[in-house]
Parts: sequence; C-alpha cells; structure tokens
Amino acid sequence: MKVIKIGGGCLKGRKKIGQILELVASRGSGDIFVVSALNGVTDFLIDSMSSALEDEGNIPSIIDRLNTKHMLIARHLMPKGNILQNFRRDLNKSLSKLERLYYGLSFTRETTPRIRDIISSFGERFSAVLLSSVLRSQGIQATYRMPDKIGLITDGKFGDATVNLAETTKNFQQNIKPLMKRKIILFIPGFFGVSGEGEITTFGRGGSDYSAAVVAAAMQAEILEVWKDVDGYMSADPDFVPEAQLIPRLSYDEAAELSYFGAKILHPRTVEPLRRSRVSIAVKNTLNPDGTGSVITSRSRKTKNIIKSVSHDSDIGILKVHASGVGARLGILSLVAKEIAESGINIKSVVTSQTCISLLFALQDLDSGFRALKSMHPKPYRRLEKIEDVALVSIVGGGLLQSKGVAAKCFSAVAECEVNVEMISFGPSPVALYFLVRNEDLHCAVTAIHNKFFPKRRQTL
Ligand code: ASP
Ligand code: MG
Repeated sequence: MKVIKIGGGCLKGRKKIGQILELVASRGSGDIFVVSALNGVTDFLIDSMSSALEDEGNIPSIIDRLNTKHMLIARHLMPKGNILQNFRRDLNKSLSKLERLYYGLSFTRETTPRIRDIISSFGERFSAVLLSSVLRSQGIQATYRMPDKIGLITDGKFGDATVNLAETTKNFQQNIKPLMKRKIILFIPGFFGVSGEGEITTFGRGGSDYSAAVVAAAMQAEILEVWKDVDGYMSADPDFVPEAQLIPRLSYDEAAELSYFGAKILHPRTVEPLRRSRVSIAVKNTLNPDGTGSVITSRSRKTKNIIKSVSHDSDIGILKVHASGVGARLGILSLVAKEIAESGINIKSVVTSQTCISLLFALQDLDSGFRALKSMHPKPYRRLEKIEDVALVSIVGGGLLQSKGVAAKCFSAVAECEVNVEMISFGPSPVALYFLVRNEDLHCAVTAIHNKFFPKRRQTL
C-alpha cells in the first residue's frame, strides 16, 4: 500500500483536478491519499477571519464564495444524481458550521489560536469529501475519513502541533487497516489532527506533507509519494540557474535541510515521522507521472562532488544583538531566545561570537523580533542591529563536513565573483553549510558555486 500526498498546487481549476483524479483512479486502488485544500482555500479561510472581525456583514459572502468554488468543480466533474446531491448537502452542513464559527469570532471580537486552527482545517475537509465524491460518482470505490474521527492524535499545540505517533499508529491499525483490505481509494484530509482533549490542531502552513508522512509511518506504507507540479529537488532553483539538474536521490537529512532554507518542495518536518520506519519518499510530477522524480531515503548516497544542491532564501533577515562577553556570560542567549519565543516568533537559526548573537528570522518576523527585544527591561545587550538586505545561501550534501576542500571550493567560487560573505555557519549540520550575502550579490554567488560543483557539460560537436 502506498500513501500519496496531493498538494494544493495540483488542486487548481476543474481541468487540472479532473486530470489528477484520472491519475488517482488509474493508479490508486488500495492506496491512501492525503490531500491539501483546493488551491488558495486555506489562505482565504485565514484572511476571512479578519474580514469577519471587521464586519459581520462580510460573512455571508465568505460562505458563498466557498460554496461556489467547490460546487463549480463538483458540478463539472460529477453527473447529476444522488452522489452530487449528497455532496451538496454535506458541503452545506459544513459551511453552516463554518458560518457559525465566523459569527462567533465576530461576536467575541478576538481570534484565538484555537478558533484559527478549527477554521483553517475546513479547506482540507472540503477537498477530501469533494475528491472522493467525484470518484464515487464515476463508479470507483472511494471514501474519506476525517483525522479527528480516526485518531490522528496530536500534542495539542495550536498552529504547530506534533503527532503522537505511537497512539496514532494504534488507532490507524484499528480504524483504517480493515478498510484498506477492500482495495478502496481512501482520502484523508491533511494539515490537522486532534489532541487527546479533542482539540483540532494544525501542523502549521504547508503541514499536509507532515500529515502524509504520519499516515505513511502509521500504516507502514511501502512508500510515500508526494504529487506536485514540479519534478523534484533540483541542484539549484531553475529560475535562477537554468542549467540546474534534477537530484535523483537524496537522504532524509539532505531533504530536511533543503526544505528548511531553500527549495520549498516538502514541509521541513516531513521526514520526522519516517525516520524510524524508514519509509522512502518519492516526489512525483503529476504532469510527468512516469518520470523518476526525486527519491528520498534514510541513507545518503554520496556523489562524486559531495554537494547535491545549492539553494537560497532571500526572505530572511538578521538581528544582531551586540553585547560584550556573550560567550562567557551565562544566560544572555536564553534571555533573548525566551523573549522572542514568548512573542510567538520563530528563530530560524543562531550564530554567536564573543561580542554578538546573530539571530536569523523569516523576513516577515524581523520587525516583530526587533520590537520584542527592544522592549526588554533591563536590556541584556548593548545594541541591536537589524539587517534586511541579506540572503542565505546553502550548499547541501551528505559527507560535506568530513570531506576536505568542499568549503574551500565553495568560497573560492564566491571570491572569484568578488562577493563578500557576511556570516557563515558550518558544522551544526553534518550535511549543510550556510552563509549570508547581500541581496544584490545573491545571483552571482549561487551561479558561481553551481558552476564550480556542477560544471556545464561540454557540448559535443
Ligand atoms: N492547506 C494548508 C496550507 O495551505 C496545508 C497544506 O496544503 O499543506 O498551508
Ligand atoms: Mg503544500
């Protein structure tokens, strides 16, 4: 049995959805499909919370738009009849629940993490019901199960939950295993689970990949396939470096590092639930389903030049916390980190020296991070500095830490194009080396490193 994840990027428009469902029907009998919300729906659900807060008069049109979006696809892909009617009834039932939640929000005048998670989970619920109904209307055995009903158990942390894999596995073996013996196509909404106390909790944006990995681990699937509209991991962003090549095989660690700071192919936490069961992940392009894609396994396969990919992220910023004797004084780092954590902001990475702690943030969090530290009393630092005009470059490949000359090769490439390196992190991850450059130097640095590690093939005459 396979577990297959279908991302929101593939669930866009009736033509594309129709094509995906043909693939599901022809390849997916006996498999479990973990699905995202239709393209744009999660954003819409979240944005609509502020419009409901602003004016409750906006709520009917929010519900209306969600209805139209899903019914348009349903009517296009299903013949008239019972199944379409049942779908319409189910959808209306869910929409009226959602409507009550938006009114509740506008009545209490506040968005709590709890209500945010409940509301944002609706997109996946709609899509799982829709896709299984379409297949059923074509005479194919398909159904869905909601994560909260089959015991996909989380630790209850709103917006960033972690699954209790042992408990979930037990529940799935009981609730799902018998169903799968019937060679049915089963849809499970991604993105959320339920805590022991019955709270709906999401895994953070893009979290359906993580859900799919949980389902694959709990069901001991033969493989986790992730269906997307790209071929897989590349040796660099092809928009940046046109000669970039597909990476056919990579390890869990390499994929995790690449997902964290660069190629947004998988959610960074996707490999976590799979480490123990060692289920492999195959990234597949739905537009090229017979292509090999990228396969991610528990072990790395070394390539000749060690490096598999040069990735970059320009949506980052740095806060430099200047203080003397950072390395010798107890507790500064923890004070600073605590302040940031209490403001609900994620620190992506930290580098410290004797005189300075450098904190790396997603660009959108930089200002709030700055404000949080500015407001500290007493201030454990001398000066705060905010740097926005930087981008992060990472080179990723198993064995990079132990192999002589990799860092030298990377930085000589950068130096040859006269780019200044601002900050380096080498060592914490055995498979990745990170550094910062100015935004204006990013393209040049990435191209130079890629050329060094992946020399262009000579053209034969
Ligand atoms: N629909 C959710 C999001 O947009 C989860 C996912 O698609 O992975 O973040
Ligand atoms: Mg996604």
